[in-house]
Amino acid sequence: MIPDGIVGGPVGFRGTLAGVTAQVLVVGSANADLVVAADRRPAGGETVLGGDTEVLPGGKGANTAVAAARLGAEVALLGAVGDDAHGSLLLDSLSTSGVRTDLVRVVRRPTGLAFITVTPDGENSILVSPGANSALRPEDVPAAVSEAKVLVASLEIPLDTVEHAITTAAKAGTRTILNLSPVVTLPESTLAAVDVLLVNQHEAAWLLGGSKDGAESVVRTSELPALLELGPRSAVVTAGAQGAVCVEDGRVSEVPSPHVEAVDTTGAGDAFAGALAFALAQDSSLPDAVERAVRVAAFSVTRRGAQPSYPTPAELTLPN
Ligand code: ATP
Repeated sequence: MIPDGIVGGPVGFRGTLAGVTAQVLVVGSANADLVVAADRRPAGGETVLGGDTEVLPGGKGANTAVAAARLGAEVALLGAVGDDAHGSLLLDSLSTSGVRTDLVRVVRRPTGLAFITVTPDGENSILVSPGANSALRPEDVPAAVSEAKVLVASLEIPLDTVEHAITTAAKAGTRTILNLSPVVTLPESTLAAVDVLLVNQHEAAWLLGGSKDGAESVVRTSELPALLELGPRSAVVTAGAQGAVCVEDGRVSEVPSPHVEAVDTTGAGDAFAGALAFALAQDSSLPDAVERAVRVAAFSVTRRGAQPSYPTPAELTLPN
């Protein structure tokens, strides 16, 4: 089921990055999204009939890598999938988009799955079964980390692996972006190794002392510099249709979003992360990189799905 090129048998990496300098190395999850539309989501003990199931490539890490690759970045994903049909779906989608999959481990566990129910109000509810993503260990973080220009890590994989990737990259002088989603508490030593902390408004509110289930929680721009007291050198907070805000060297820059007709916001945050990483790998300033990421993410919400919605430079008329 798994394409040729496995190195070290079915449990192991598919290759190495020897001799390759990835501009962007993404460390994160790869999931198959099982999406079902239903009139309403079932209550406890209840059965509800939905529509046909769509199986789509997803996961925060894979989405971020695909978004960066579509824009023209040389990008590799450090991740794990199972030796099953969902793993093949993900590897195909990554390769077709131009993401190097040498550092995707194929393991004897089911590929991660996200069970997504979509109701007519546009709300998603998502249950993630991490599966193979749980097998990504700190010792899987390769020496190649030091050769990447930018490392971008997100959660949905074991925390100690994220921490090890960030601290190893920082020691090697690689720029680090941590997309702290889903938000968790991290040791100060990890946050101090982060160049750009990337969160959405709710995650920012929680980090600044709000409650985790406070879906309504919104932070004022004036509060955002306090994120730097947690340790990162800079922070970027995304704010849906409003765009994003970045904080660096005591300066706060607000970047409004172009007005677009939003069709599906799934994976918009991951599109933002991939575009931000690519722009920083090209030595853009943080405010300029955020401006590019806002445009890419705004474009992504105008099309359905996560990975299928990510633009190429030609679609965006972005310089690459
Ligand atoms: P998601 O969980 O949907 O991937 P998120 O909660 O991580 O997203 P958001 O702040 O909602 O992050 O969105 C990320 C970025 O996507 C925003 O900064 C913005 O650039 C873009 N975006 C999201 N929704 C819209 C919208 N309705 N119109 C324009 N741009 C949008």
